[in-house]
Amino acid sequence: MYDQVRQSDPEIAEILEAELGRQRNQLEMIASENFTSPAVMETMGSTLTNKYAEGYPKKRYYGGCIHVDQAETLAKKRAMALFGAERANVQPHSGSTANMTAYLAFLKPGDKILGLSLSHGGHLTHGHPVNFSGLLFDAIHYEVSPETETIDYDKLRHQALTERPKMLIGGASAYPRFWDFEKLRSIADEVDAILLFDMAHIAGLVAGGVHPSPVPLCDVVTSTTHKTLRGPRGGLILSKKDKFKAINKMNFPGIQGGPLMHMVAAKAVCFQECMQEDFKQYAKAMVSNAKTLGDALMERGFHLVSGGTDNHLLLVNVSNKGLTGKAMEELLEHVGITCNKNTVPFDQESPFVTSGVRLGTPALTTRGMGTEEMNRIAGIIDGAVQNQENQENLAGLRAEAEDLCKAFPLYPDLK
Ligand SMILES: *Cc1c(COP(=O)(O)O)cnc(C)c1O
Repeated sequence: MYDQVRQSDPEIAEILEAELGRQRNQLEMIASENFTSPAVMETMGSTLTNKYAEGYPKKRYYGGCIHVDQAETLAKKRAMALFGAERANVQPHSGSTANMTAYLAFLKPGDKILGLSLSHGGHLTHGHPVNFSGLLFDAIHYEVSPETETIDYDKLRHQALTERPKMLIGGASAYPRFWDFEKLRSIADEVDAILLFDMAHIAGLVAGGVHPSPVPLCDVVTSTTHKTLRGPRGGLILSKKDKFKAINKMNFPGIQGGPLMHMVAAKAVCFQECMQEDFKQYAKAMVSNAKTLGDALMERGFHLVSGGTDNHLLLVNVSNKGLTGKAMEELLEHVGITCNKNTVPFDQESPFVTSGVRLGTPALTTRGMGTEEMNRIAGIIDGAVQNQENQENLAGLRAEAEDLCKAFPLYPDLK
């Protein structure tokens, strides 16, 4: 692998190989990460990266677009078929630019937006003050209830009635429960707000039929393509017919220049993969693995935010174990598990320390792991907490994690 790079740039080749080794030899539990198929990677590494294609199929500002037009048309068609959407824009470079486009298509700077608070599971682009969304718009936030740690839709409704936002934003990066799209729709209707749902995390679950779909009820749905959807790193916007023109115009020329046509083609490959029966099985397995892992951790005294999970991720509050999220992340890294510290609702710690970790099953499920492995991983996690000071036992746990990795080889054809 990487023969060409090794010839021309051994320094970078070494980094590429080391990263492949890292991905192979650790248990990847960052909930937003996954392993794309070799077909997706081949397409990302194709000559389409050389092509400028500002505009849209058949309406380009450059010649020579005949083939990339076909790729983008296929990607759009497949995205609409996969999600049952009226329209799709497959050009956003990322989930964040997809959101920027979708907001600016319908809002003016200073307009009011209402999204889930970052510290309660939301995303930076849903109005956080350090992000463009908080800088440009008058952003206010809803939260989860302190009792159930799930979204309090009654409270959200009252907040919407008082604040009258122009856009209601649903979606999260660290929320383990189903969303209620009927309730979001009726709240948005009551205050005459545009309803945008950002399904970046759960798109693969929606595609696989194991999470209710936001598409029928929301005006605009944004997403990434590289999380549970398991495609190339990028963004996607789905919308109703009447919202489509404004979105296209804001994507280009409003925000982006030339689309990344190699990524657009790779999105097409991803959408095709998502329509296959084995992707449905994959989506089911992501959810059942998360549930198995969550149950096994709760049996060992771990506190799961909201008491469990409906999707591919768990938010574990580790304060009852005498640990911070930061310490837990480091401890797990030490035994071969990669995850991220994460604030929990009503967290007393700073965002750099936090009281929780977020654990996800998308990447491990792609490797083929199932129920038995989830139970073993719960044992490794608990063992790490119990043996924090015992280097020998921690080394044993690390070896167990590496054995699991060996039993489920990643990219076996890459040499
Ligand atoms: C990951 C994520 C994004 C941002 O995606 P990037 O591709 O990293 O810009 C936006 N919204 C939500 C809810 C996310 O989870």
